[in-house]
Amino acid sequence: MQVVSPTPGVLVAVRDVDSLRRRIQSWRREGLSVALVPTMGALHKGHLTLMAHAQKLADRVVATIFVNPKQFGPNEDFAAYPRREHDDFEMLNAAGVHLLFAPDVGAMYPQGFATSVRVAGLSDILDGEHRAGHFDGVATVVTKLLLQALPDIALFGEKDYQQLAIIRRLTSDLNIPVDIIGAPTVREADGLAMSSRNAYLTAEERAAAPALHRAITAAAKSIAGGADIAGALAKAREELLKAGFKNVDYVEARHAQTLQRLNPGEPGRVLVAAQLGRARLIDNIAI
Ligand code: AMP
Repeated sequence: MQVVSPTPGVLVAVRDVDSLRRRIQSWRREGLSVALVPTMGALHKGHLTLMAHAQKLADRVVATIFVNPKQFGPNEDFAAYPRREHDDFEMLNAAGVHLLFAPDVGAMYPQGFATSVRVAGLSDILDGEHRAGHFDGVATVVTKLLLQALPDIALFGEKDYQQLAIIRRLTSDLNIPVDIIGAPTVREADGLAMSSRNAYLTAEERAAAPALHRAITAAAKSIAGGADIAGALAKAREELLKAGFKNVDYVEARHAQTLQRLNPGEPGRVLVAAQLGRARLIDNIAI
């Protein structure tokens, strides 16, 4: 099925893999390069910055919108996750994106679907410890999207830093011929990382939310300045609880590439996940 753009612009939306492949193959025959930008929709400026980045790096940009049930746990927000396909279409169209692939669950996981992609190790730490099966769902859907579209490059945000590391690992391990590009986190003026889940915050929680960025920025600075890592992280945790965050799932300093233990002198990253009201927020920053 193919839906033609309702407004002037270049965007065409398709919902099935054959239509996606036909379009991309015709571009390839013309010698055009293709960038893929996977999303779960409810688009914001962070997503649009990825699209703009993709436009600079490739001749054609393909966005995908798929709220992937396999990456949500049974008690997570799959049903509540914001879905705004019409607005998303308008935003992508205005941005000059060429193709939107928005499959439904049945097209991605037809009856009998039985395969799972699992990146061992990297999927079991940090967010993986708190969201059982989450990264297997991510790895499986991203592998499918990459093989469906076979783009030259695919772009992902550093906002989801562990996810980016897992995607780099799986494309390398499985010899998927695509360059994975990581893009910096886009933030609100007060430092809060843009996220579709920020829509869950009440006005009061929204006012408290920038404490997340403040706490990890301060921790990263202290660690860079030679302070005791455990002490800097404990202080960040304390600040989050003081600001009104309920659970701090983790606030950790890790090696920037392996996400394993950080030794002195190595490139590092502070990563955090914490609950504020209905929203579980994640963020990370370079040390
Ligand atoms: P999502 O729709 O939340 O799954 O995100 C789709 C892509 O956009 C992922 O690669 C995210 O890392 C990226 N992304 C989400 N929020 C931001 C942000 N604030 N800045 C940069 N990239 C982002």
